[in-house]
Amino acid sequence: MGVLIDLHVHSTASDGTQPPAELVRAAAAAGLDVVALTDHDSTAGWAEASAAAAVAGVQVLPGVEISCRLDGVGVHLLGYLIDPDHPGLRAELDATRDDRVHRARRMVQLIAVDHALTWDDVLAQVPDGATVGRPHLADALIARGHVVDRDEAFARILHSRGPYHVPHRAPDAVDAVRLVRSAGGVAVMAHPLAARRGRVVTDDAIGRLADAGLAGLEADHPDHLPAERGHLRHLARDLGLLVTGSSDYHGSGKPNRLGQETTTPDTLEALLSLAARPAG
Ligand code: AMP
Ligand code: FE
Ligand code: FE
Ligand code: ZN
Repeated sequence: MGVLIDLHVHSTASDGTQPPAELVRAAAAAGLDVVALTDHDSTAGWAEASAAAAVAGVQVLPGVEISCRLDGVGVHLLGYLIDPDHPGLRAELDATRDDRVHRARRMVQLIAVDHALTWDDVLAQVPDGATVGRPHLADALIARGHVVDRDEAFARILHSRGPYHVPHRAPDAVDAVRLVRSAGGVAVMAHPLAARRGRVVTDDAIGRLADAGLAGLEADHPDHLPAERGHLRHLARDLGLLVTGSSDYHGSGKPNRLGQETTTPDTLEALLSLAARPAG
């Protein structure tokens, strides 16, 4: 068996369903050698994950999935090995996390017109210190009996083109790539062409991220069709970018399995060589 590397998973520090230590043990049990913890706009799970890593026998790569905007489209940027105390990056993450709360409250007000739901219902679903997101609204809708799972909640009520959707503040993705670089990290664009999630950006926009210092594209992602993966491999070659693969595992919140998509050891080595700080 080769080395198994999964560079994008979520814990209860954002919208995953497993606490960081449990997630790391699950990663080891799934046979992974390296797992990157990439919670939405948060590094709060890092300490627990790295403490669990040595015992579990798996290497944890610290990361974050930064919610950004590019040409009016929501895009996600994976930042690996950033300095979590870099003031500029910290300020952006904190501002986004703060506005996510206001945005979720606003969405609850809109949803409550048609489906019984209160802010307390949502709070009951948000683990301590977690980045609040639509998946927690989904969990509250499940608890109320309006839907059976997160997938149905997104399909029927929470989707980004629906009547209840409210955007939250997010940094421009070009600025976010520069911030990740100045915080000593490496930036990879998450699921760049996942059209089923909503609008996606143009190749030209991805080119601008490359010019700003982007290192890679997450072509192998459960939400990408084969044609989208092929297009991204071509684009990566044209732009001189690396190609990664990851599961985007969220515990029981999504069907994605740990290690469902993986990154090659050579690619990981190339990514690590671009970071200012050594891994691990
Ligand atoms: P937000 O960041 O608050 O806008 O919520 C987006 C998050 O919802 C994504 O990061 C996904 O993890 C999650 N999500 C989107 N669609 C689904 C779905 N169909 N089932 C479960 N989770 C989803
Ligand atoms: Fe998520
Ligand atoms: Fe994402
Ligand atoms: Zn993700």
